[in-house]
Amino acid sequence: MPSDTKLTLDALVSFCKRRGFVYQSSDIYGGLNGVYDFGHLGTLMKRNIRDLWIQSLRNKKGEIVQLEGSLLGPEAVWEASVHVPGFHDPMVDCKECKKRFRADEFDLKKGCPSCGKNNWTDIREFNMMFKTQLGAMENASSTAYLRPETAQAIFINFKNVLSTSRVKIPFGIAQMGKAFRNEITPKQFLFRMREFEQMEIEWFCKGSEAPEDLAFWIEHRLLFYKTLGINPDKIRIREHESDELAHYSTSCVDVEYEFPFGWKELEGIAHRGNFDLTQHSKHSGKDLNVFDEETRESYIPHVVEASVGTDRLFLTLLFDAYHEDEIENETRVVLKLHPAIAPIKIAFMPLTKKLEEPTKALYEFYAQKGISVQYDVSGSIGKRYRRQDEIGTPFCITYDFESEQDNCVTIRNRDTTLQERIAIEKLPEYLGI
Ligand code: ATP
Repeated sequence: MPSDTKLTLDALVSFCKRRGFVYQSSDIYGGLNGVYDFGHLGTLMKRNIRDLWIQSLRNKKGEIVQLEGSLLGPEAVWEASVHVPGFHDPMVDCKECKKRFRADEFDLKKGCPSCGKNNWTDIREFNMMFKTQLGAMENASSTAYLRPETAQAIFINFKNVLSTSRVKIPFGIAQMGKAFRNEITPKQFLFRMREFEQMEIEWFCKGSEAPEDLAFWIEHRLLFYKTLGINPDKIRIREHESDELAHYSTSCVDVEYEFPFGWKELEGIAHRGNFDLTQHSKHSGKDLNVFDEETRESYIPHVVEASVGTDRLFLTLLFDAYHEDEIENETRVVLKLHPAIAPIKIAFMPLTKKLEEPTKALYEFYAQKGISVQYDVSGSIGKRYRRQDEIGTPFCITYDFESEQDNCVTIRNRDTTLQERIAIEKLPEYLGI
């Protein structure tokens, strides 16, 4: 079977459920549209993605500090960021079948994608923020919103960070966390969700340096995807046309991945000018200038932003890693995940139940070191290998009767399926642990 087996979205959704990566949220109550829960393997994999992302931000130009902002924000923040007046998608309803659509996603003249009729309501603007109320009193000052992006928490904490972290321009503030958008039509599984996670870096620099820093970050982010082993033929950079740019953005590119449903945005990288800090300075009345020691002038820094959805990257990595090949006349599913992304690093297997005790001792030794390991005793060794291949475990270690005598085990490689005999004491060195 060729390694570029086409995996459909539906097949990936059921694979994720069957192997405990991702479940539809509130499944037993019929499911909540656009919202998902991550199972054991999904949770482990997502944590690996976050760790690698934060590591990947290290760079020679400037420091990166972290922030974990709140999910709720008062109306004033979202007024200043222009989300209250401007975070809209155009919405339209089919009067015949009553289905609701985003009006900018297809040609209305061609009729309803669901029933084919051509009888539409007017197009209305729909604000995608989730509005809520703080406390028991309902008035304008108690209105709050779940954040539709993580970035604003960074901008409103800019002065706090600057005065407490000993950082100097240029530097970056990185944040990962939940964001919420009331998408009119959530779809394509983890691609477009209503509750999702973002990993964002806001890089503060002088306006004159911003174009160069934007180019630097585009290269730096592409290197990240290369390091993760994503097929380079499926990653590309697309520059935004001038009519696509957000009102605040001076230039912007998307890192796109070729999903089975087409080339789509994975990450957005933009020069946002100094729009955000200027807005928050105006609306809050606080001075968000920094002082340039060289020119003896105050200025509001510019921002280069790189923003990727953790879940969207998770989906990308699964699509990219999923392969089917032929082994001993059997089709095997194998997730060729980068070992650092793989949820389980090593599976330990006794050849038979009689050998459980020494195998478990070995398993415990690695589990105690904090390594993500699994123990599997059920079924033939071949079946156990397949189970691990399917979830992307790079190594399986089998303890057999000979191990009792020679203190060696068999280690089997996920990608090559080759097996080697190796001394137990040499394992850490072999595994690079
Ligand atoms: P799109 O055009 O796909 O709606 P966007 O341009 O609105 O995305 P941004 O606001 O730039 O997205 O958000 C940055 C990143 O956050 C995106 O590149 C994507 O990876 C992720 N993201 C945005 N919206 C969603 C969503 N509804 N579900 C999952 N991830 C999302």
